[in-house]
Amino acid sequence: MKFPIIDMHCDLLSYLEYVPGADPFFPKIGCNLNALKAGNVKLQVMAIYTGTEKGSSETGLKESEIFKQLLKTHSDKVSLVKDIASLNTAIASDKTGMVVSIENASGFCEEDEPVENGFKKLDKIISNVERVIYISFTHHGENRFGGGNYTEAGLKDDGKKLLDYMSGKKIALDLSHTSDALAYGQLEHIDKHNLDIPIIASHSNFSAIFDHPRNLPDDLAKEIIKRKGIIGVNFLRAFLNNDDPDVFYDHVLHCVNKLGGENAICFGADYFFASEPDPKRLPYYHKDKEDASCYPALLKNLEGKVLEGFLENMSHKNVVNFINRIWKP
Ligand SMILES: [Zn+2]
Repeated sequence: MKFPIIDMHCDLLSYLEYVPGADPFFPKIGCNLNALKAGNVKLQVMAIYTGTEKGSSETGLKESEIFKQLLKTHSDKVSLVKDIASLNTAIASDKTGMVVSIENASGFCEEDEPVENGFKKLDKIISNVERVIYISFTHHGENRFGGGNYTEAGLKDDGKKLLDYMSGKKIALDLSHTSDALAYGQLEHIDKHNLDIPIIASHSNFSAIFDHPRNLPDDLAKEIIKRKGIIGVNFLRAFLNNDDPDVFYDHVLHCVNKLGGENAICFGADYFFASEPDPKRLPYYHKDKEDASCYPALLKNLEGKVLEGFLENMSHKNVVNFINRIWKP
């Protein structure tokens, strides 16, 4: 049985923005449109990624234009997913559905402008792409909103304002790139003020299986599961295990058997293209996870290790249920 696949994170938009002559069919980016089709991907979340640098909000806006253009130019291959109806259509069609997320809030707010300007720019991005499924406040580093995964900084005042702004807007908060201090600061602020914000980790693995600052400590993963969020398993060698590709399955089974996350686990492959690759990290992916055509084979290898129904859940149902819950009119 070939399940429909949903993947919660890729960097096709920033590749198309940052790399001169970039092409959405370029085989060396794992989420190229041909690989997505080959992998039966019916919804791919496309991150608007920028660094925290001068002009980041212009770059973010440009990536939203690129998203619109992709939909127009390749309407035979991709479709917009903006509500539950268009999600169902995408799953039943032979196209790949697409929805935008924002990885690093610097994509809509410069470090040195009034934060309210940033919210206006966020509104502009949302009106361009019609739906933003989640926002991650930071990338690796620190910005005006809080501390990223390689920092110790927590939630800042502007971060609190951003949470207040997000409440009730049906946009999830992504914890994949937070410092632990930022994640707990965000959860505390949400609880204290009773904010309506779904919680996810779009592309993160588990520290208990492989210790890395990008991976989730069990306590944080349990918080996400308790709040009915989802956790997308990341395919990067550096976060799975540098040497053994099969540790991928240990991450999945840890989430299911140790954390009770059978209704939370999904894919967050994190395909990107490095124009100046870091030689220490090459190859970025193990051979069996090189591009998006690999999802069916990975699921097949889980057969016999999981309960019936699980593969359907992990492939797409967990995300479908999550989206039905957070987007319901
Ligand atoms: Zn990322």
